[in-house]
Amino acid sequence: MFTHCLVCHTPFPPNEELEYFSVSTRVAYDAERGRLWAICRSCKRWSLAPIEERWEALEELEKAVKDRAKLLSQTDNVALLRVGELDVVRVGRANLTEEAWWRYGRELTQRAAKHKKLAFIGTAAAGAAIMGGWAPGGISWLGAWLLWDNAPEQVTEAARWLRFGGSAWRGNRSCSRCGHVFRTIAYRDRGQVILSPGTGAGDALSVTQRCPLCGDLGDGGLHLRGKEGEYVSRRLLAYHHHRGASEQRVRSATRLIEEAGSPEDLTRIVIKEGRRLGDLQRTGAIALEIAANDTVEQRLLELELAQVEAHWREEEELASIIDGELTPLPLMESIRRKVAGIR
Ligand SMILES: [Zn+2]
Ligand SMILES: [Zn+2]
Repeated sequence: MFTHCLVCHTPFPPNEELEYFSVSTRVAYDAERGRLWAICRSCKRWSLAPIEERWEALEELEKAVKDRAKLLSQTDNVALLRVGELDVVRVGRANLTEEAWWRYGRELTQRAAKHKKLAFIGTAAAGAAIMGGWAPGGISWLGAWLLWDNAPEQVTEAARWLRFGGSAWRGNRSCSRCGHVFRTIAYRDRGQVILSPGTGAGDALSVTQRCPLCGDLGDGGLHLRGKEGEYVSRRLLAYHHHRGASEQRVRSATRLIEEAGSPEDLTRIVIKEGRRLGDLQRTGAIALEIAANDTVEQRLLELELAQVEAHWREEEELASIIDGELTPLPLMESIRRKVAGIR
């Protein structure tokens, strides 16, 4: 089996999901026509697997997809799936229900893992500082205790600052009631920020801040809607959940979205006409972050899917020529029948 892209010779990173086709972490297949490709991350072209090595791999892939794949997105011709660490393009419509919000849930659990790592580095760094201070006798017990206790928090706070900066929004808006000028929404004030459902079609969330001068939040106050509201609310929620969430929490949150019916319905249920971020229950808030980001990811995926479909058309044309010329037809037919489940 090849280990490099047949077009640009970039080595494929091997996957640990498949026994019979471990060459690449991005693969494409067509069970019906008996095709199997490794996709290059560098040039995006597809390398067709030698025909005699497709048999087991195709069966294994189809089984992995049926048993444990998560559907990212699909068109009538191709489906984009994930099996563990493996990206899979399956030609034909996958008979799976789309778990749209699952995609962003992964980002939250990864954030939690990273936070744990940072907290651990913080503890290790504090340990080193304590040991270092200990030698010349320059650190008190109290100092050591304070350092030990607070260092992980400081490390993760620093990481949060590096990632988000100090404010979720900067601009220049006036309160239409009293003329007070809004210039920033600081993250530390996020608990008071009101999140409400988007106003236009396709708008995720709006952001409202009460006017600190006249107290109004109807006509007056600060209102961020449309793309701006979506962007700022996603920043606020991500900052709020900087530590991420456990897989169990993400599961509960996605269950809420499932029961609500759609990300939009979930948003309406959790924040109704509008609620302060600080008043939200944790699971509801996590579900809200997942729902808010899913709309955006969906848009990006649709772009990617259009590209994948264009590649598939080219590669399939090539594959049909290669297979047709080099492969005895009966073998091809038997692969096709076996994998497609035709007896
Ligand atoms: Zn390549
Ligand atoms: Zn005002």
